[in-house]
Amino acid sequence: MIDPFGRPITYLRVSVTDRCDLRCVYCMAEDMTFLPKAEILSLEELDRLCGAFIRLGTGKIRITGGEPLVRRDVMRLFDSLGARLGNGLRELTVTTNGTQLSRHADALAKAGVRRINVSLDTLVPEKFAAMTRWGKIEKTLDGIFAAKAAGLAIKINAVAMKGVNEDEFDALLAWCGEHGFDLCLIETMPMGDIDGDRTDQYLPLSMVRARLRKTWTLDDTDYATGGPARYYNVAETGRRIGFITPMTHNFCESCNRVRLTCTGTLYMCLGQDDSADFRRVLRAGASDDELDAAILAAIARKPKGHDFIIDRSHNRPAVARHMSVTGG
Ligand code: SAM
Ligand code: SF4
Repeated sequence: MIDPFGRPITYLRVSVTDRCDLRCVYCMAEDMTFLPKAEILSLEELDRLCGAFIRLGTGKIRITGGEPLVRRDVMRLFDSLGARLGNGLRELTVTTNGTQLSRHADALAKAGVRRINVSLDTLVPEKFAAMTRWGKIEKTLDGIFAAKAAGLAIKINAVAMKGVNEDEFDALLAWCGEHGFDLCLIETMPMGDIDGDRTDQYLPLSMVRARLRKTWTLDDTDYATGGPARYYNVAETGRRIGFITPMTHNFCESCNRVRLTCTGTLYMCLGQDDSADFRRVLRAGASDDELDAAILAAIARKPKGHDFIIDRSHNRPAVARHMSVTGG
């Protein structure tokens, strides 16, 4: 699959649910309305779609959400996708808030998952509770250490928020180094209505990186995971730190991914509204050939890049859907 700008599309992110057991302030409003079940693809439908993408050249699949591990029986999907590893699929990963990892870490490893991303924005329990609106940090920490014990490589994702966790990046980097985790910092993106003002929260990571350099030696590396982060080796810890900077740096040039929502809507770009409806295609009884043709037609519409701008005058997000819909 090559898009109109010559980029090979090899990475599919799949949001398996829009639901979540947390309500991170930058991601969701407190009183979110979730989708009715009939609109959500079954695990079999998701597996069939993923199978078609793999047939067409997708080598990496990341399962995300919402919180993917709160979907009932989601391990069935990991098992069926894991069985495709080595058969077109090269890597199966997951992004999770970690609350259910204690239960699922061993099964994920058994299904063939080798690396996971866990979101953890702070190490301070009270701050964690405030940022997630009601989360208990112990649950996520227990999950992280269960995943480590299961042999999974762990990358911690933290969204950088001005005045909230900006004083903690040194501590997070040290903690990750101590436990053998990579760290990835993410700029807040203007996606979906939340309670509050986003422009107040936005913290450019170029500034964070400059501050970190006062304490840490960040060496350039060409390490890449197939995602949008730019990585550095941290000399003092032997681990890596990545920066995802959609707002200050255009990360679209090397974009290799598309995103499938739990309703079967394919977004060719995180920051644009154009989409393709695969639930309709599947439920109309499409053959494999018809499914493949519909996927290729969607890839042919992949736009050149996003245009994230916070609409300051109206305090409106650049993209109306929440990150939990498209999958982070
Ligand atoms: N629930 C899982 C989790 O939190 O890891 C997976 C889904 S979550 C939407 C995926 C990632 O998107 C998380 O690391 C989260 O911090 C990030 N995220 C959510 N809303 C965001 C926003 N508005 N800007 C930047 N990152 C965001
Ligand atoms: Fe849930 Fe993840 Fe969004 Fe937080 S970032 S509310 S854990 S989906």
